[in-house]
Amino acid sequence: MSLNPTTYWNVSSGEKFAGLDPSDFTARPGSDLAYHTDIFIIAVLALAVLCRFPRAFARLTRASEWKNGYFFHHIRPSAPKPSIAVRRGPSQRSQRSAKTMVSDESDTVYDPTYLAYRERKGEPAPRNYPPHVAVCWPLLRSTVVFLRARVAPGFSIGQTLCLAVYFGVLAYCAFYKSSPFQDPVRAGFVAMSQLPIVFALATKNNLLGVLLGLGYEKLNFLHRFAGKMLVLAVNVHSVGYFYKWSAEGTFTQSIKLPMVVWGFVGLVCVDILYVFSTPFWRQRAYNVFLSSHFIGFGLLLPACWFHKPVMVPYVLATLAIYALDRLLRILKTRIKTATIRPIPELGLTRVEIPHLNAGWRAGQHVQLRVLSAGMGWTGWMEAHPFTIASCGTNIGVGGAQEGLVLMCKKAGDWTNDLFELAKVGGYSERGVQRDVKVMVEGPYGGPGHAIWASYSAAVFIVGGSGITFALSAIQELIQKDLDGASRVKAIELVWMVQDPASLTPLLPMFNMMIQQSDRAPLRICVYYTRAPNMTFHKDLMHPSMSLSPGRPRMSRILEDVITRTVGLGAGDKDRLGHTGMLVACCGPVGLSDDMVKAVGNVEKVRRNQVGGIEVHEEVFGW
Ligand SMILES: Cc1cc2nc3c(=O)[nH]c(=O)nc-3n(C[C@H](O)[C@H](O)[C@H](O)COP(=O)(O)OP(=O)(O)OC[C@H]3O[C@@H](n4cnc5c(N)ncnc54)[C@H](O)[C@@H]3O)c2cc1C
Repeated sequence: MSLNPTTYWNVSSGEKFAGLDPSDFTARPGSDLAYHTDIFIIAVLALAVLCRFPRAFARLTRASEWKNGYFFHHIRPSAPKPSIAVRRGPSQRSQRSAKTMVSDESDTVYDPTYLAYRERKGEPAPRNYPPHVAVCWPLLRSTVVFLRARVAPGFSIGQTLCLAVYFGVLAYCAFYKSSPFQDPVRAGFVAMSQLPIVFALATKNNLLGVLLGLGYEKLNFLHRFAGKMLVLAVNVHSVGYFYKWSAEGTFTQSIKLPMVVWGFVGLVCVDILYVFSTPFWRQRAYNVFLSSHFIGFGLLLPACWFHKPVMVPYVLATLAIYALDRLLRILKTRIKTATIRPIPELGLTRVEIPHLNAGWRAGQHVQLRVLSAGMGWTGWMEAHPFTIASCGTNIGVGGAQEGLVLMCKKAGDWTNDLFELAKVGGYSERGVQRDVKVMVEGPYGGPGHAIWASYSAAVFIVGGSGITFALSAIQELIQKDLDGASRVKAIELVWMVQDPASLTPLLPMFNMMIQQSDRAPLRICVYYTRAPNMTFHKDLMHPSMSLSPGRPRMSRILEDVITRTVGLGAGDKDRLGHTGMLVACCGPVGLSDDMVKAVGNVEKVRRNQVGGIEVHEEVFGW
């Protein structure tokens, strides 16, 4: 039978073409099922949003929360705000010594004079403690501990259950009164239903993330799963038709049809996307992974459009989601001059952007492009994520603002090029440095609906360059405390490094942070795993700081912080009782897993004493 493309779309005659039913070109029950699947998934997500609404509401009742976390801007440094009058104890002596050391320290990463700036006292500021809404009811705390437990590195029982439900919904849609061999179009409808969802979960500015209070990187596991389901469905759909056409002896005729050719293009696209998305490519050649995504999705959408008219609304929805994300990304992008400095002890480059000093929350990250020929032919175009290591209003040498600070550890070609670029800068009073134009996009991620200053205690467990995350968070907590806007009574920083020499450039900063944290005492424990090359002068360290070999015993640390917090008794910060302990972790996946295990091991009675333990995880990769 020869096929006439002009009569091909005329399905009203009911004529059967080369193994294809006329109904294959029109909407049919399968497409309704796909549509209802999407509605069901959206309804489940809406329920999740509703559960998180009290937290979102509590946060957004504070005007300051609207200003931070969405767009960068610059604010004029105002006169120092009056801080809550703080009582200085015996630590004053070590404060002086810390300051002396700063002036001697030529290669310090931070100039802590901004802290002195904050020390000027005026009238006590009015206290304005943030509201605290726990992540769950006290009765459900044990359930949350169970859901957080790991089934695989970096993967929790909660995430597994979530994916199991997702899989169940898609399986129902695919197999309800249908078999992939007799009804291969059904799998195509499943793939179609996933198209906008996969895109929505991939965008940096997705509505779901905003409503749930989760950064796009936290929803990445859903994006990957939905993507895999799409790939599977497209392959089942194609194999089903190949089988059907072969059985009917119409394979060669069918494969020439334009809509089938477009379908074939779509199949090749999704398979390429899948192959180049595997950890092998993501970790070894990130740019190949990224380019394959752009090309693959760029071709997939026209392929879907021309494959079947019923797909057009889904393609349009996908394009709308993508266009909105692109628009927001443009609005969130700033081009500024940055000062870059190499910090050899930490093997990283410090990037300082003084003209961006507001608009983010601690723990958020940016996408950074360095617009310099020194980054190589393609390097200047590449965007890399880095966590913000400052809290905006920091004042540097001579009262100048540090603004947004990033610490970029040498990890591969791009970060090595950045370090080399910084090294060939000129000498200044702060060491080697140079100015470059940068493009900063963000801020993204971060604490979401949680207000870290609303907990009774905060523990930060970080490894290596994860210190950037802890620095911004602790500085923000200290600042809020000085403004009378923090409930935190005890802060603990646990930093794991390979070489104790990594501590040297941060020592002045650590000393000053401890000095400032009078009302929320900060304790810093540094652990190192490699034998030191040189003797470290522990006498430069504040008494609240320790340096020890080996790995930390996390359960013990958590117990200590609970004891410290509960031991302080109820003050004006927590008149209504303790508001919980935040345990935030940033580093390799293994570190997060250990932290979650340690939190799970805390006795129920101890957990309840402090008002519950909540966890925040950051991993430098996806
Ligand atoms: C949310 C987030 C926050 C981060 N914050 C910091 C930080 O504050 N300080 C810091 O030193 N590092 C941070 N990183 C890691 C940093 O982004 C990578 O080390 C850097 O991009 C490596 O680039 P490269 O070309 O030098 O190395 P490569 O050898 O190309 O890559 C090394 C590793 O980084 C990953 N990677 C490479 N390029 C990207 C990219 N564009 N996006 C995401 N991952 C990529 C690769 O998958 C690989 O696993 C963060 C990563 C993420 C995801």
